[in-house]
Amino acid sequence: TARNGHEPEFIQAVQEVAETVIPYIAKQEIYNGKNILLRMVEPERLISFRVAWVDDDGEIHVNRGYRIQMNSAIGPYKGGLRFHPTVNASILKFLAFEQVFKNSLTTLPMGGGKGGSDFDPKGKSDDEVMRFCHAFMLELNRHIGPNTDVPAGDIGVGAREIGFLFGMYKKIRNEFTGVLTGKGLSWGGSKIRPEATGYGTVYFAESMLKTKNETFDGKTVVISGSGNVAQYAAEKAILLGARVVTLSDSSGYIYDKDGLNDEKLAFVMDLKNNRRGRISEYVDKYASAEFHEGKTPWNVKCDIALPCATQNELNKEDAKNLLKNGCMCVAEGANMPCNADAVHEFNNAKILFAPGKASNAGGVATSGLEMSQNSLRISWTREEVDERLKDIMKDIHDSCIEYGKEEDGFCNYVKGANIAGFVKVADAMLAQGVI
Ligand code: NDP
Repeated sequence: TARNGHEPEFIQAVQEVAETVIPYIAKQEIYNGKNILLRMVEPERLISFRVAWVDDDGEIHVNRGYRIQMNSAIGPYKGGLRFHPTVNASILKFLAFEQVFKNSLTTLPMGGGKGGSDFDPKGKSDDEVMRFCHAFMLELNRHIGPNTDVPAGDIGVGAREIGFLFGMYKKIRNEFTGVLTGKGLSWGGSKIRPEATGYGTVYFAESMLKTKNETFDGKTVVISGSGNVAQYAAEKAILLGARVVTLSDSSGYIYDKDGLNDEKLAFVMDLKNNRRGRISEYVDKYASAEFHEGKTPWNVKCDIALPCATQNELNKEDAKNLLKNGCMCVAEGANMPCNADAVHEFNNAKILFAPGKASNAGGVATSGLEMSQNSLRISWTREEVDERLKDIMKDIHDSCIEYGKEEDGFCNYVKGANIAGFVKVADAMLAQGVI
């Protein structure tokens, strides 16, 4: 805390891991006196740089770019880039720290990293976004590479941004390599990568429900966000027979009493991905829906909640509301959307609760599959990638059970994910010595 006291999100993420991992370490002789966790919380490298770019009116802007290379014990750094005005070192360090555990859980050889900028793509023209992405890569390119660090998308960085970033990397380095994931299908991308985080979150929740002999069929599902993760979580939940009744963005949430269907979801995807509009426009099109300005959807009655927008979007009061309304399963699609108090509420009530580092790991896992396909210069079918994704999500679920099951049979997935993720990285660090 002394060294990182000004970084609240990072401290929050580390505390959550420390709560479960420190008691485990204390019982394992091999980790005694090795200060592994102390070494894990210090990034191997933190790069901060100026990004200067020119807008459509000829005015010059300056943003701050970052790449946090957190841990490379088990593979090249891997993790997304976030473009959002709230981006700072604390948020990126929390995300990079989480990423180390998440990537370890996928069973693929990937270290952890994260990066981004306080640039806000909202309201910018395509040309302005392109100029920013090119300026960002002009510096970032010297720190990354297919065997060093492989960034991907995150909030504010989707297919359009990855295209511009990849184009500039290729031009500067004069090489066509798998240096970014989330690429377009015709230039090295993997099938199912856009869907992977949302689908994976639902696959994980399916495994959790199975432990209670339950399924998605006929359940009411509340989802926050309306970006990449939320859209595909909704798609898969609907396919499995659930009634998805909410979506949101930073201006509020929509409640559709009839539930979304394929046609309504296609409208949302076009609205958000092509027209870059606001979720409130949904109610102009569908009379069965109402818009709640400035609110989050956690007071809506549901069986399953999938927070898929951003960190700390669900607090203690929200958790109490969900529990009061009979919610039995919460799986995080976003990173750390539930704050520490909310997580404690869910675990004290012993409902099914999955932390993002386990339930949203499908995205980075499929990025790992994209890296493999790039190295092999082959392209797997949609079905092949989806099968691998399902297997990985099931393996992550099983690891959480192995390390998280308590004496009364309750599975603490937070504990399970933290310890399972920790062990693999810690063992690699031990083997590699003090570096
Ligand atoms: P997108 O940019 O596609 O969508 C983000 C969504 O969250 C939008 O609906 C956005 O609303 C909303 N949102 C963003 N910031 C805020 C805020 N401060 N308050 C309220 N709403 C907000 O991002 P993704 O869907 O890719 O990412 C969502 C979450 O999932 C993030 O936590 C990300 O780290 C995590 N994640 C993403 C992965 C991926 O593969 N994409 C992988 C693993 C985790 P608005 O449009 O109004 O900004």
